[in-house]
Amino acid sequence: MNFDTVCVHGAKDPHNNTGALTVPIYQSATFAHPGVGQSTGYDYVRTQNPTREPLERLVASLEGGREALAFASGMAALDATLTLLDQGDHLIASDDLYGGSVRLFDALARRAGLKTTYVDTGDLTALRAAVRPETRMAFIETPTNPMMKITDIQAARAALPERILLVVDNTFLTPHFQKPLTLGADLVLHSGTKYLAGHNDTLAGFVVTDNLELADKLRFISKTVGAPLAPFDCFLLIRSIKTLALRLEKSATNALTVAKWLANHHRVKKIFYPAFYDQKSQEIAQRQTTGLGAMISFEVDSEATAKRALEKVKLILYAESLGGVETLITYPCLQTHADLPEARRLALGINERLLRLSIGVENPEDLLADLKWALD
Ligand SMILES: *Cc1c(COP(=O)(O)O)cnc(C)c1O
Repeated sequence: MNFDTVCVHGAKDPHNNTGALTVPIYQSATFAHPGVGQSTGYDYVRTQNPTREPLERLVASLEGGREALAFASGMAALDATLTLLDQGDHLIASDDLYGGSVRLFDALARRAGLKTTYVDTGDLTALRAAVRPETRMAFIETPTNPMMKITDIQAARAALPERILLVVDNTFLTPHFQKPLTLGADLVLHSGTKYLAGHNDTLAGFVVTDNLELADKLRFISKTVGAPLAPFDCFLLIRSIKTLALRLEKSATNALTVAKWLANHHRVKKIFYPAFYDQKSQEIAQRQTTGLGAMISFEVDSEATAKRALEKVKLILYAESLGGVETLITYPCLQTHADLPEARRLALGINERLLRLSIGVENPEDLLADLKWALD
């Protein structure tokens, strides 16, 4: 079956003999046993639930993986992934990352005895140089948030010793445009809150893998700390994923229109979006992705222009988050990346003139009219 068909038909309730088209919400915390030492396959919701199972199988098949685990949020998924490591282990992470991931690495993982080195993972020499004897994991965002930098996943895998787990946060492109497991990643991470849920109405997270041993460890962690996604949210995710391919195609087409328009606007000084990559990044993008995605970062001429635009937008919403049907505009320096030390933030290019758009599925003419009003 093709990807868009799997999106629509990939989640089936194996217990259904009613003909219902949807997976029901099994809103049950516990499950009765048919006899002593017997189980229906379900015991307690922290371990498994019949609404969560079809969702996990669906996400696994979309990523081309063998197992997926659904978590209560992207951060819960990342936290479980870090729990695979031991005290004293070392982690390499992309230098330009979702701010919440940096907060987890710096504030909490350090307390558990994990050390993190941030490098431009797109620079293979820098990546190789960051490897230490105790390095156990490399964590990559591609494209990065918010600077849209790209890492060649296959080349990164080849540059790292085999013992190092390669984790790719695939939130920005989703398996519709990029399948990291097929490029050598060991684990794929998602904030399902974004494109997979797609309607800015719920939190969710996923880890997907081909490695059954890692999947077992993650299931143990998830049931032990109590991080899985609740049945109702699983239902929302199954429903949303039916239109994943449609939403992403429309958002990406819109984003290309908006990016071209921004590139010609006199107040826009720089634009960070795959269609405007340098030649080397274009080549990598062409090899490892099947689309440009719908995230655009851009720098305007002054801080005043940036702030005015945030206050003037009418249709576009000034809000954190991304990946929903509504177009959102974000101010990374005050929102997603406010916790980064200033010097590091500025060195990455996340200055007071930088804005980030998550393009939704509205009519592009209305988006352009709103941006014109906000920027002129
Ligand atoms: C939002 C986001 C996260 C965190 O996910 P939550 O669902 O908000 O916990 C992680 N990585 C990226 C790239 C994100 O955009």
